[in-house]
Amino acid sequence: ATPTAVMVGTGVGASQGVLIKGGQALESAHKVNCIVFDKTGTLTVGKPVVVNTRLLTNIALQDFYILIAATEVNSEHPLAKAIVEYAKNFVEDKENPAWPEARDFISITGHGVKAVVQNREIIVGNKSLILDQNIAIPSDAEDILAKAEGLAHTGILVSIDKELVGVLAISDPLKPGAREVISILKSMNIRSIVMTGDNWGTAKSIAKEVGIETVIAEAKPEDKAEKVRDFQGSGYTVAMVGDGINDSPALVAADVGMAIGAGTDIAIEAADIVLMKNNLEDVITAIDLSRKTFSRIR
Ligand code: ADP
Ligand code: MG
Repeated sequence: ATPTAVMVGTGVGASQGVLIKGGQALESAHKVNCIVFDKTGTLTVGKPVVVNTRLLTNIALQDFYILIAATEVNSEHPLAKAIVEYAKNFVEDKENPAWPEARDFISITGHGVKAVVQNREIIVGNKSLILDQNIAIPSDAEDILAKAEGLAHTGILVSIDKELVGVLAISDPLKPGAREVISILKSMNIRSIVMTGDNWGTAKSIAKEVGIETVIAEAKPEDKAEKVRDFQGSGYTVAMVGDGINDSPALVAADVGMAIGAGTDIAIEAADIVLMKNNLEDVITAIDLSRKTFSRIR
């Protein structure tokens, strides 16, 4: 492609809300034959909501939610925001909820949070966090978790003073059109993969819904980058699509990093291409543009 063609390609992209940071990014995109998608906020809407609560002891629902909101209000995680939002249903003043004070708050990245509220130790997080604290998970809680995951919900466990007291199901639906995008990519001979820090059950259910066969779950940020390098090692030219801080190492590692425009600044900085309209369809727009600019008919 001539420098003019590259300029035209980048310009057309920009006019469609696909920001391509330079000729190299535009060129690499036409060779992509494998795309790794982050789950939360990329394939899904990214605005999770609490859809179900199951209590395992005789704690009152209101007390339960006030204790966990007091803990989660200290976390920036989208799941934490969903929990705090839902807990507002249990207070008088929804605009200015006065959560009790939390002491010794800690956030365990990719697992959950912990704090002391009203002299009780509250833990909110995934199964591995609860097991790491040597807290027993009764079999009915396991059943509730498995059901939630089968519905592609994320199951969150809550313990108070080392006793498991409840299970929440949080739903974050697929973006409209996600399934079609995956099917079009398949017809373009591009393999799609789901990669997430969320658990295997939920990840597999979402993958099935969207039509993706390969799933990588319970992945820490560095694992995400390593997986991208593994696919490159087996001969793929890899694009990574993500929105979070936890995706940035993988965005950098990929041949083409694509960030969702609504994502975090760190992801946008790490990416080669930014999808300003937050549409998954624009993954195809970017690749089409690159193919038109770089693959000539011989
Ligand atoms: P993702 O890649 O989907 O953005 P993360 O790596 O951020 O996922 O988190 C992985 C898992 O850790 C979540 O699915 C959840 O089970 C648990 N988790 C993380 N942060 C929190 C939190 N603040 N409250 C409850 N659970 C959490
Ligand atoms: Mg994400």
